[in-house]
Amino acid sequence: MNNIELNRFWEKVKEELVGSLPESVHPWLYSLEVSGYDKGVLTVVTGQTMAKEWLRKNHSKQMNQILQKISNNNEARIHIIYDENAAKKIKKEAEKIHKKELEAQLKEQAMENLSCMQSSANLNLKYKFENFVVGDNNKFAHDAALAVAKQPAAKFNPLFIYGNAGLGKTHLMQAIGHYTIFNNPKLRVKYTKTDDYISDFISNSRKTNDSIENMAKFNKKYTNIDIILIDDIQLIESKEKTMTRMQQTFDTLYEKGKQIVITSDRLPEEIPKITDALASRFKRGLMVELTPPDFETRLEITKKLAKNNDINAELSALEYIAKHFQKNIRELEGAFTKVCAYAEFNNKPITLELAKEILKCKENEKQITFENITGVTSKYFELESGDIIGTTRSQKISLARQIAIYICRELTNQSFELIGEYFNRKHTTTMYAYEQIRNKINTKTEIANAVREIKQALKVI
Ligand code: ADP
Ligand code: MG
Repeated sequence: MNNIELNRFWEKVKEELVGSLPESVHPWLYSLEVSGYDKGVLTVVTGQTMAKEWLRKNHSKQMNQILQKISNNNEARIHIIYDENAAKKIKKEAEKIHKKELEAQLKEQAMENLSCMQSSANLNLKYKFENFVVGDNNKFAHDAALAVAKQPAAKFNPLFIYGNAGLGKTHLMQAIGHYTIFNNPKLRVKYTKTDDYISDFISNSRKTNDSIENMAKFNKKYTNIDIILIDDIQLIESKEKTMTRMQQTFDTLYEKGKQIVITSDRLPEEIPKITDALASRFKRGLMVELTPPDFETRLEITKKLAKNNDINAELSALEYIAKHFQKNIRELEGAFTKVCAYAEFNNKPITLELAKEILKCKENEKQITFENITGVTSKYFELESGDIIGTTRSQKISLARQIAIYICRELTNQSFELIGEYFNRKHTTTMYAYEQIRNKINTKTEIANAVREIKQALKVI
């Protein structure tokens, strides 16, 4: 029996004693502290002389019977010792153990609360701010998300996070949820994937024929919260009824001063058939973009993965992975996992050679730069190379510039801000240019041809 078990055992015996012995002796029973239990002898210590004498003389038989019953041992007996100092010391020890047990219980309770909240909020424990590597590509988005987590609905509402697949939108969004659960547990967080919202809405409409009462129930489910996290909003495309409902959900939350966070793989206006009303609501707060990370950040991500999973890997192996998986962090993680799995199955260390053998990435894949793109585009349109990034607004140059901007965005995946800087233009202008070409490609063959030929030429640089 260890100390904790001994104390528990004694608590049980004491409870029975208190329940069976007359009230007049209870103070003496309370003065008893347990010191040990060995070979059926339970030794208890008291700091009161009278306690030992009285209990031994008048109640020892009954006390022994109780112990025998609880311990299931007919020979068991209680041995009472009088020792003032020992009793004090034991009492202190017992109190310490009790406190520790209480703390452990509290911790357990807290963890239970957390896991319960997490499963109801649909959050993945890995997606926390601590596990999010910050680089130039995501610093703005990260800082905005952290500000929202620290002070929901204070500044950036809604927070609209957009960017291509695998760049950390869901991670960042859920980090807001985790931060709240850990630091602000009174706030209710709801994470919902847009497709779940849609199917919930549809099944609800079907079941209830849009009855007001049931719609109110549906509304309550999504508005009786403090922070709503809506993932992948682009999936709402063309679902007009759901859009109307979401607009109402949105307005209720907004009016109640609740925080809304949305992710999307594109800008609101690029979502097919989105209503202007909904798109304009999404743009009311702050819009932040996630772009592919640079090499340093990618390397940092692989290092963090290795550390979090207790994996020893040669730095050059991590560098190799970081170098070759540039556009999608999910793929970067996938490559890392593949190498680790292979190493584990074959009991090999993770080296550069191993990474090369498994991943077989194409070497010398040249990075296409903004310069390459403006160069080739100028040639195609027979312009001077400086014209495109210059200020001239002639029709031909403007078109070439818009096409170059479009291709820069498509092939380098860089942010509109960065592209804007290179072209000496505001990021909204570059966004507009991108949009223009994206739309015209489908309707104007000469533009589609220009884009295709320039992209083709860039491949052979
Ligand atoms: P998205 O929602 O944009 O498609 P996710 O949030 O699902 O992307 O991210 C894909 C994977 O990459 C996840 O496993 C995520 O943890 C990881 N990831 C993304 N960005 C980062 C980052 N900055 N630091 C660490 N891991 C990241
Ligand atoms: Mg996602």
